[in-house]
Amino acid sequence: MSVADTPRELVFALLRQLADGEFHSGEMLARQFGVTRATVHNALHGVDTFGLTLYRVRGRGYRLARPLQWLDAGLVRERLAGSGEKLHIDILDHAVSSNALLLQRSTQGAASGSVLAVEWQSAGRGRLGRTWHAGLGDALTFSLLWRFESGLAALSGLSLAVGVAMLRALREVGVAGIALKWPNDLLLIDGKLAGILIEAQGDMLGPSAVVIGIGLNLHLPEEQRRHIGQPASDLAGLGMPVPERNHLLAVSLKHLAVVLREFSRNGFAPLRTEWESNHRFQQQAVKLALPDGTHVAGVALGVTDTGELRLATDHGERLFNAGEVSLRSA
Ligand code: ATP
Repeated sequence: MSVADTPRELVFALLRQLADGEFHSGEMLARQFGVTRATVHNALHGVDTFGLTLYRVRGRGYRLARPLQWLDAGLVRERLAGSGEKLHIDILDHAVSSNALLLQRSTQGAASGSVLAVEWQSAGRGRLGRTWHAGLGDALTFSLLWRFESGLAALSGLSLAVGVAMLRALREVGVAGIALKWPNDLLLIDGKLAGILIEAQGDMLGPSAVVIGIGLNLHLPEEQRRHIGQPASDLAGLGMPVPERNHLLAVSLKHLAVVLREFSRNGFAPLRTEWESNHRFQQQAVKLALPDGTHVAGVALGVTDTGELRLATDHGERLFNAGEVSLRSA
């Protein structure tokens, strides 16, 4: 059997065995899964594509450079139940993109509150077709489906509201120093810690459904960092123990559910002050890159009740929709 033919299920089953970061002999692994040693070798051959470093030592076997912490739907459900939230949790080892798959499930009638967390995405997505980079076990990448009675027109400001929810979640697990960047990023030590991608279905009058995708870096290996065209940060860089992934997922979902309910009642307005007081560039000089390739410079005054950026320019105050605009410090 060649490397390409090795079933992904076997690769992930082997990685679960190796998750403890200890040595496991090829012979033992082969016996355990009822395959040959060559099959084990082939299956593990390409795991660097998952962002993993695997040591192979003659006479000792295989060992992962760092232990892997797997997501566990039961644990997440249990933790969430403690907070009174009922969401539908599904965890997959791999998918092309959690947002793409959940959008597909949404068209097939998936319930509001469906969660899809994926250990490894082969093509994680960002806004405007950009790529989200994440290694297996090194990030939290998940999507949440939420249905609204209102139409798409009432959803402006939603990506900012989601930023507030994630900020609250990170605070609850003891992470300080997070700031928000308009419209949809979480920053830590001036690098991008997490991105939010919202994809909507429905029409302007309603009802509508949104899939909210979150990618958050726990460990960002140098190899991944090199592919990211802007400063990025990870929770490991804080020098404190990285929050347990299942716990962080449960706490994030709890805050997201609270904020989404608030948002469906009253929109972004009640969250605006909290957003602005955590805005990294509040009252600072910034530069906006517009879709036509031009730039606008000004001072970020804050945001409106519907999430537009208020920019003081040489020609007076201007408002910008999240649309296709990227903000950078001036
Ligand atoms: P910008 O941050 O430029 O305003 P955006 O908000 O439109 O971009 P997102 O959809 O949030 O972009 O994310 C895609 C971008 O995030 C990529 O173009 C890349 O620069 C960056 N990126 C990709 N993977 C990571 C990661 N693991 N950590 C931090 N940043 C990442």
